[in-house]
Amino acid sequence: MPFGHDMVHSLATVVDLVNTSPATGGPDKLTNLRELDDFVERRQVSGVGELDTADLTKVRAVREAFHKVFTAPDQATAVIRLNTLLSGTRITPRLTEHDGHPLHVHYFAPGASIGEHLSADLGVALAHLLVEGEWERLRTCSAPDCDNVFVDESRNRSRVYCDSRTCGNRMHVAAYRARRRA
Ligand SMILES: [Zn+2]
Ligand SMILES: [Zn+2]
Repeated sequence: MPFGHDMVHSLATVVDLVNTSPATGGPDKLTNLRELDDFVERRQVSGVGELDTADLTKVRAVREAFHKVFTAPDQATAVIRLNTLLSGTRITPRLTEHDGHPLHVHYFAPGASIGEHLSADLGVALAHLLVEGEWERLRTCSAPDCDNVFVDESRNRSRVYCDSRTCGNRMHVAAYRARRRA
């Protein structure tokens, strides 16, 4: 899967955003402006000014819309859900090479709020993924107590856990113990 730097960055950002949702099994990790600022800094979301509670509300709504794309039961449903999200988003492609990054395209409109910014850039990244026939790579963790989403970038699409060091390792240890008891 020859994803460029932009695509990798956008996919990691949408996964991080969705996994702050309590719908993925953990506590809500986007409940106040400090947590939103942390997210912006962690994901290096560019061109974001002062954020207010309206931004927080909007980002939380965008988060749930993206979660619905990841958990769509089939590709056709994912397409409908992503189109719904994109249809409410102003999109203006623009070439940029800010902050020392190589030339790449931003999709959020000039002056976009952070909610619009995320739905435009992350929405277009997911749209490309679907166009490439890679819908199946949008996954939810198979560990019984974890519903984190992830993008399976493995060659043979074999990844089942959100994180091999945490859920993957935990499940391997559990399987090993079960085998020893058997
Ligand atoms: Zn950029
Ligand atoms: Zn997991």
